[in-house]
Amino acid sequence: MNSANVRALKALLNTPQKIAIIPHKNPDGDAIGAALGLHLYLKKEGHNSVVISPNDYPEFLKWMPGTSEVMIFEKQNTQAKELIATAEIIFTVDFNDLGRIGQMKEVLEETETTFVMVDHHHSPADYASIMYSDSGMSSTCEMIYHMIKALGGENEINQEIADCLYAGILTDTGSFKYAATTSETHRVVAALIDRGARSAEIHKEIFDTNTPSRLHLLGCALNNMVILPEYSTAYITLNQDELDKHQFKKGDTEGFVNYGLTLADIRLAVIFIENREEGIIKISFRSEGDFSVNEFARAYFDGGGHTNAAGGKSTRSMQDTVIYFRNLLEKHKSELSR
Ligand code: 5GP
Ligand code: MN
Repeated sequence: MNSANVRALKALLNTPQKIAIIPHKNPDGDAIGAALGLHLYLKKEGHNSVVISPNDYPEFLKWMPGTSEVMIFEKQNTQAKELIATAEIIFTVDFNDLGRIGQMKEVLEETETTFVMVDHHHSPADYASIMYSDSGMSSTCEMIYHMIKALGGENEINQEIADCLYAGILTDTGSFKYAATTSETHRVVAALIDRGARSAEIHKEIFDTNTPSRLHLLGCALNNMVILPEYSTAYITLNQDELDKHQFKKGDTEGFVNYGLTLADIRLAVIFIENREEGIIKISFRSEGDFSVNEFARAYFDGGGHTNAAGGKSTRSMQDTVIYFRNLLEKHKSELSR
């Protein structure tokens, strides 16, 4: 965080403030970890803080300290709108475009309060007066750690805050394996463990709480996988009937897309998941090397993200989405077979 931003933020937080912290829609471990880590820190500093998530998040994140205090905009609409209207500062974490928060977008656009962005995605939009945006960072949770340290609050990080931030770094780095995991990331993780983060327990909470139906859904997904060696691509489809048959719950498909990349010589992995209620196919993209799924998702699927991990959506049917996608592969064949 640059010194001008640190000074501006210190001035803002000089006296107790009413603060709302907002993660992106369908929040993942990094978004919820960053929101809760920051929330618990700001509360400790005497601020009146609340986390408002656009919608609900998976069970495997609900062990996190402070989770019972998270307000869900979709469910507690009136109360959430009031808190946003009266907030003196709004932190947006792990996203950089108000299009990433669904129906909350209109509400935030109406407020004239001070926005602080903390985020590690490419191409930030221009809505925040304090922008801490760094696409070289492993995770927003790593950035929250740097921000707290820059504010002089390192010693305020207790086990609860450390647990939240550790969880977000863990999930967004694919257990410390993605390219954005630097030596500095590991130093932050070490500092969080020194502050009490329960690393072994957190791994267990996140990765070892499967249900039989989720594992069967994974089996179905792997069965559906289509491998296209000529494009170094593997993709999975899951339609609504398949989800229903396996008692799908939010978060159940987390990580499924990564299996494609575990195949030797596969450099692009995609999962298409039908959401009949929203009338969309939600898509996750993962790549290895220099094929930018951020650009691909932005150009063709109304999405975005990072170079090697991005998401988007389609309003076509599953079948038409897949046909459209396969035609795009032909168009990008030379980049994919490099
Ligand atoms: P996931 O595939 O795990 O949902 O998301 C991978 C990355 O892409 C995350 O950084 C996420 O924030 C981003 N992402 C996912 N869906 C969308 C989307 O619809 N639009 C944009 N701009 N980014 C997305
Ligand atoms: Mn993130």
